[in-house]
Amino acid sequence: MLEVQNVNTFYGKVQALWDISLTVGEAEIVALVGANGAGKTTLLNTISGLLQPASGTIEFMGQRIDGLPSHKIVEMGISHVPEGRRLFTDMSVHENLEMGAYTSRAWKSRHETEKEVYGSFPILKERAGQLARTLSGGEQQMLAMGRGLMSRPKLCIFDEPSYGLAPIVMTEVFDVIKSLREQGITILIIEQNVPRTLEIADRAYVLENGRIVLEGNCEKLLEEEMVKKAYLGL
Ligand code: ATP
Repeated sequence: MLEVQNVNTFYGKVQALWDISLTVGEAEIVALVGANGAGKTTLLNTISGLLQPASGTIEFMGQRIDGLPSHKIVEMGISHVPEGRRLFTDMSVHENLEMGAYTSRAWKSRHETEKEVYGSFPILKERAGQLARTLSGGEQQMLAMGRGLMSRPKLCIFDEPSYGLAPIVMTEVFDVIKSLREQGITILIIEQNVPRTLEIADRAYVLENGRIVLEGNCEKLLEEEMVKKAYLGL
């Protein structure tokens, strides 16, 4: 579904990604792990068109997307739920969700999609009329994810969805991610909670200093000494 080949991305003269290649297959959950500053967010932003790669190619469903503006990439079926949620805090839950359905294809089916989102996140239905800023951290994260689903994506990109959440809420977020995949949505995720992420993901890539240093299926990665030491505290 997604094929990134030999991508290099810079901030000005500083190179942040070095020759990155990765694939995400249909209905897979693929995780990116790595220390702070490894380049995970930069890679997600490069895929979703917020940053342009200096070289390399990115294909989605067989079509080149590198160089396209991010709204086109959303229209093609990639939704990016960014780090830090970026909600419209003085708008209601319902209004935030509608903002996620801004492409013409998504707008037509927005009522139906909103019902589906409420099915995945029942708490959002209860809070539909409430301003986003009055929600708890967990509810805000669910709203950010729900808004991402309003564009009816084929591939959902989540940047640290469990960041700052209490363990019980984290569990809910991970459960929703698993259920999205059961609904046929493909997922590319960055997470600071590496053990939990490797449990729900099929495959993962480990980034260090802007380079992929390890990749494979999660069962295999959980056995790697480097992963055990650096991310699992073993
Ligand atoms: P974190 O978990 O802390 O978000 P990350 O793995 O997502 O880390 P990035 O945010 O992608 O890492 O950062 C990769 C590198 O690019 C870092 O060295 C960072 O300092 C640099 N960088 C990130 N954003 C910018 C920017 N807007 N301008 C210049 N350099 C940046």
